[in-house]
Amino acid sequence: MSDEVDVSNDKWDWFVSMQVRSAQHRTAEAEATGECLFCSEELPEGRRWCDADCRDGWQKMKGK
Ligand SMILES: [Zn+2]
Repeated sequence: MSDEVDVSNDKWDWFVSMQVRSAQHRTAEAEATGECLFCSEELPEGRRWCDADCRDGWQKMKGK
């Protein structure tokens, strides 16, 4: 009786994993250095930009 719910959860998981994969692909050439790649602000490990504005600015700077 819960089959329909299970199927939609699977679809959602698939959708989310595809979104994550394509987001990783788009920025695959950028490596986290401990600093914002756009404005050189210090960042926690694993982060590449302060926020979406810096990421967008960086992508424009790279000509994408
Ligand atoms: Zn920044």
